[in-house]
Amino acid sequence: MPLNIIVCIKQVPNPEHFDKITLDPSTGTIRRAGIPVITNPLDRHALEEALRIREKFGGAVTAITMGPLQARKSLDDALSMGADRGALLCDQMFAGADTLATACVLSGGIRLLGPFDLILCGNESADGATAQVPAQLAEMLDLPHVTCARKIDMSADGSKALVERAVEHGFLRVEVVLPAVIAVLKTINTYRLPTVLGIMEAAGKEVHQLGCSACESTGMYPADIGSIGSPTRFAGISEAAHLRKVKMITGDPQDIAAQLIRELRYRDAL
Ligand SMILES: Cc1cc2nc3c(=O)[nH]c(=O)nc-3n(C[C@H](O)[C@H](O)[C@H](O)COP(=O)(O)OP(=O)(O)OC[C@H]3O[C@@H](n4cnc5c(N)ncnc54)[C@H](O)[C@@H]3O)c2cc1C
Repeated sequence: MPLNIIVCIKQVPNPEHFDKITLDPSTGTIRRAGIPVITNPLDRHALEEALRIREKFGGAVTAITMGPLQARKSLDDALSMGADRGALLCDQMFAGADTLATACVLSGGIRLLGPFDLILCGNESADGATAQVPAQLAEMLDLPHVTCARKIDMSADGSKALVERAVEHGFLRVEVVLPAVIAVLKTINTYRLPTVLGIMEAAGKEVHQLGCSACESTGMYPADIGSIGSPTRFAGISEAAHLRKVKMITGDPQDIAAQLIRELRYRDAL
């Protein structure tokens, strides 16, 4: 049975440049200007899983993102990796969204894309890292969901997924009937890199750009999206105090080791 799979992809600031991130003290939102962006790494694992399922069952993989126009680059990357089409949910009305408003827009966009069998997400983003969006999305679409997925095995007819869900010191095996939302961990697979052919083919694939008015036709209300629809309120920021002290130890390796042991014993005794 061919499967229609949606993969939710978020563009995030590159973690290698997190030291350059500052927050707007009045709104609590990230100042992104000038910070290089990448596709959220876990979302690449979600896409890889979708591509592997499509290779086995046939069907189509759609990458969807809510973000500014520059988020199109993450969709292009997904198309180069092998996704069949992309959807960019982009509108001024979507700005300032918390996780609930983000999930609301994603659910509207996904409804617009038509029937689907499976939605794959990263388990959390590298920046917001709340891990709330997949569960909220499932709730809004009235679907079952499984988070922390480290392995997905599809039933032979593609109607169910047997998921290994990581928990502390082990895993749970969960069977879920599709359609469902599954959020994956990085241990689920090693994702492929785009090939030259993939990059060339991506140019011919379609990317739908959908705004607020299109999503409204699915029953999404402007009052539920963007900053207006975000019940989370920014309450304040404080800078973490750095208590670490640096002491340089020099000498030959034996001296360094002896001094280090003395220093650690001294600290331990404090
Ligand atoms: C008051 C407030 C205002 C905010 N304003 C802004 C703002 O102006 N701009 C801004 O960028 N952020 C803003 N944020 C942060 C915003 O809430 C989160 O970036 C966003 O809702 C996703 O949450 P998360 O990153 O924790 O996702 P998680 O739940 O950790 O993400 C899990 C998975 O969900 C999927 N996912 C998450 N977000 C998206 C997306 N946008 N598109 C597609 N898939 C997605 C991905 O598969 C991802 O791996 C604001 C937060 C608050 C509290």
